[in-house]
Amino acid sequence: MKIAVINSGSSSLKFKLFDMSTNEVLKSILIERIGEENSTIKTHHDALESMEIDFTTLDAIGHRVVHGGESLTSSVIINDEVIKIIKDLIPLAPLHNRANLEGVVVARLKAPNTPQIAVFDTAFHSSMPKEAYLYALPYEMYEKHNIRRYGFHGTSHSFITKAAAKELNKSVQEVNLITLHLGNGASVCAIKNGKSVDTSMGFTPLEGLMMGSRSGDIDPAIVLYLQRELGLSVEEVDATLNKKSGLIGVCGDNDVRNIIKSGDEKAKLALDMMIRRIQKYIGAYLTLLPSVDAIAFSGGIGENSSYVRERVLDVAIFKEIKVLVIKTNEELEIANECVKVLKNK
Ligand code: ADP
Repeated sequence: MKIAVINSGSSSLKFKLFDMSTNEVLKSILIERIGEENSTIKTHHDALESMEIDFTTLDAIGHRVVHGGESLTSSVIINDEVIKIIKDLIPLAPLHNRANLEGVVVARLKAPNTPQIAVFDTAFHSSMPKEAYLYALPYEMYEKHNIRRYGFHGTSHSFITKAAAKELNKSVQEVNLITLHLGNGASVCAIKNGKSVDTSMGFTPLEGLMMGSRSGDIDPAIVLYLQRELGLSVEEVDATLNKKSGLIGVCGDNDVRNIIKSGDEKAKLALDMMIRRIQKYIGAYLTLLPSVDAIAFSGGIGENSSYVRERVLDVAIFKEIKVLVIKTNEELEIANECVKVLKNK
């Protein structure tokens, strides 16, 4: 069985082709700078054309879609109705869903008869209980405007959970974990009986941990202050919190390798802040689980930096807990989801 996975961003398209009998990657293509001035690839359609792949011979095409909202809580075969729902969710994830949809539209044109399957970043967290996903805002903000916590990186947390269960010789339904996806974007998830019961990202991927360029948790009144007292526009506040904060904001760099090596005071401070926030989340999530089988590290930082792992784990109550390092593979998880959907068809 041959399955392609497409991760379509606003100016990039990542493509991987899997042979599902061996999980081997047959082809891996990254196209960047789509639509930019000097680029020969003007559209996502051009990007697929340039790959010289006969999409019609594939068994399925899996698409990463960031936001599935409250209605798309598991992977689905894409039809016009699904497309409409993804479109309707654009206001909740303006950059991501619009770009993801672009990939879906062009792939459907290329291979109208090949099953196309959407796999959502939010889906894994649909098991969160209401007390975890509601904000303490007027209830109608949830009912009328869908303002709630959704959680992201779900495909990765799901992959890590399955891989951890395997390493622990347990079934997925039996494992209790704290999973850490620590990349440029970063999130923590509390896993009870194989399911997400809480996660650090919320209404958007901005909430939670201190990230490469995102602030993570802040007092929401700072947003009001920035607008009222500093006169920042909505767009400027958005850029400040998403692109100019986190590690970059504090020390001017978001590459944790450089930050660790640097002797600079601010780099040291940024690292201390990042680590402290991760520790606070792990500590909090321990209270949500009856017991914990392992803390599982993943993502570029979690997988590669034993220094960060050791610093994070340097807390008395964490020392008794088993530690796993798992190389996440979101594309393979998406391809596996496609196989599951095809089987249930
Ligand atoms: P993305 O969220 O963009 O997919 P990655 O999961 O690739 O990000 O992680 C990127 C981060 O991983 C960067 O901050 C990078 O500095 C960090 N990283 C990669 N290798 C190491 C390493 N050996 N030690 C520390 N940090 C590392």
